[in-house]
Amino acid sequence: MLGWSLNLFRIRGIQLSVHFTFLLLLAYVAQDGWSQGGSAGLWWSVATLMGFFTCVVLHELGHSFTARHYGVGVPRILLMPIGGMAQFDSIPRRPVHELLITIAGPAVNFILAGLLWCVVDFPVNWDAGAIPESVNELCCTLLAANLVMGCFNLIPAFPMDGGRILRASLALKLPYLPATLWAASIGKVVCVAGALFMGFYMHSVLGTALFVFIFIVGELEYRAVKRRERDEAYWREVMQRFQSAPAIPPAEEPPILTR
Ligand SMILES: [Zn+2]
Repeated sequence: MLGWSLNLFRIRGIQLSVHFTFLLLLAYVAQDGWSQGGSAGLWWSVATLMGFFTCVVLHELGHSFTARHYGVGVPRILLMPIGGMAQFDSIPRRPVHELLITIAGPAVNFILAGLLWCVVDFPVNWDAGAIPESVNELCCTLLAANLVMGCFNLIPAFPMDGGRILRASLALKLPYLPATLWAASIGKVVCVAGALFMGFYMHSVLGTALFVFIFIVGELEYRAVKRRERDEAYWREVMQRFQSAPAIPPAEEPPILTR
């Protein structure tokens, strides 16, 4: 399913791809903009979506460039309607590295929000949910989006950024697997609370589904870490046994037969 994507271009060696469902979202947003405000509505709604996903890409590049600094390869960033995903070719196992790699994403959002704050001409008299109709309104929308993106990602629901920060912080004191178990368990409680809040208070089916999705992905990632830890422990033991085994004495040279 994740393979159904379109390669766009490379940013310093990292392939940027979009999932095909992103194109469906683009078509939906364009149609919605057209129905609300004709060609101007279409233009501004598509510009807003593109601006929003540019911020998502910059968030992922924050993770990616920090990861590369610590020797973790990042072959691809995949954009999906629910956000972006930087694919690492290995897991940063030093907690300090994971902490810095994870913090870098939301940090980019807060820096962008700060930069946009400098260029927005306040006060802006427009409803935050409406389609922007000027560059100033677009910048204001992106400012709000970056603040929401930065804060939302910091919710400690593993494997979101906040959950990874929690895992890395716990891993400074605990072994990696118990730290992951604690982060995943706390994340599940947060997800249940988030799903109930979204369902009963906000009446948002999408918000509820998002927390259910994070709950499931968190459990899957914990199981993957558990499996990997078990495999690594097994191979460590095999290697130790191999190294401590008595060396096989060299076979005696066969006599050279001469005639
Ligand atoms: Zn992130």
